[in-house]
Parts: sequence; structure tokens; C-alpha cells
Amino acid sequence: MIIGVTGGIASGKSTVARAFAVRGIPWVDADDVAREIVAPGQPALAEIAEHFGHDVLAPDGSLDRRALRELVFADGEARRQLERITHPRIRQRLAAHLKQLQAQGAPYVLLVSPLLFESGQDAMVDRCLVIDVPETIQVTRTAARDDVDEAQARAIVAAQMPREERLARADDVIDNATDEAGLAAQVAELDRRYRDASSWPPRT
Ligand code: ATP
Repeated sequence: MIIGVTGGIASGKSTVARAFAVRGIPWVDADDVAREIVAPGQPALAEIAEHFGHDVLAPDGSLDRRALRELVFADGEARRQLERITHPRIRQRLAAHLKQLQAQGAPYVLLVSPLLFESGQDAMVDRCLVIDVPETIQVTRTAARDDVDEAQARAIVAAQMPREERLARADDVIDNATDEAGLAAQVAELDRRYRDASSWPPRT
């Protein structure tokens, strides 16, 4: 069984993944894979440079993420083109990673992805676990962790999938407006239910 873990910026996806890992559950991070597929020498990088021009490459031939982000930020068609290049490759590589993890015999595995729903990766998982926090907490935790002020953090949150939409698509929810103990208790309960997966109906 594969559990997709998602949530907005600073909702606590990595924190939750680490809490499952303590219980022996491995995970693959879609952000890591998204970086792997555009590493120098990868076909996706060549295709991006061909489509968007060599200005999106740094002098050492690696992807200049900031330049690419600026190019696609306000241009929906450019963003869709970028996604046409990257998303299928990300899904393919994720599937390979997940297969590898499953072969190691864990009772279930996690796919941690900020864009689980937006990228269609939810089709690869059996259940979607949403990490939920009110936007005010997202803003505070983002500003505390990253080099952004609260106004910038609010703008990032506003550009993401709305909280209600994410919740509407969740099979399971962790409420992370809590402390470490509150989080650990919810993870323990979900872990117990996921291990008992035979009692779950298949996802429709
Ligand atoms: P992103 O997708 O933006 O990288 P994320 O969803 O993986 O973030 P984390 O990195 O796990 O989120 O958490 C964001 C920040 O909030 C971190 O600094 C983390 O330590 C803190 N945090 C997470 N959960 C809690 C909690 N229950 N109480 C206090 N702080 C928390």
C-alpha cells in the first residue's frame, strides 16, 4: 500500500514523514525526485533548455531554477509546457523508487509530495493523507523557517491549492496545529490503521 502525504507550505509533511520513519515506514520525497530528473545530463534538462532557451542554464550547465521560475511564473502556457516535460518523468521515477521501497518489505510506504493532487501523483497512491494547519500557522512557521517575511509567506500560501479543496480530496487528515506529542499520537493511530490495511476498501 502507498500512502500519499501532502499539504501546503510548512504544513509539516517532512515532520510527519520523520514520525512515520521512526516507526519503520520508509518514504520517497517527490521534491527530491523533481530535482533528480533535471540534473545535468538528464534528458528533461536538455528538453527544458531547448524549449525555454539557454538562459535557464547556469554557467556550469545546471538548471538555473530562479530563471526558470521567473519565466513560467506569470505564464500559464509556459508552466503547462514545463509540466509536460517534467511530470511524466517524475511519476516514472517515483514509481521506480516506490517499487524499490516496497520490495524491501515495509508494511506500507509513503510518497511525500507538496503537489500530490496538482501533479496527478494521487493516481499512484492508495490513500491520500493531508497534513492540515490553519493558514495563520503556515505563515508563522514559514516565516520562522525560511528567509521570508510574513507578507511573502501569505502570498505563497495564497498561490497554493486552497485548504478546503485539499481537505475535500483527503482520505485521512492529520491536524498539525498541535505539539510534538499531539502529532505523534495521530501518527501512531494512523500507523496502526495502515498496518491493518486488509480491512480497508479499495480507493475509488
Ligand atoms: P515544505 O513543504 O514547505 O518544505 P513541510 O510541509 O515539509 O514544508 P516541515 O518542514 O515538516 O513542513 O515543517 C515546517 C516547519 O514547521 C519546520 O520548521 C518544523 O520544524 C515546524 N513544525 C512542524 N510541525 C510542527 C509542530 N507540530 N509544532 C511546531 N512546529 C512544527
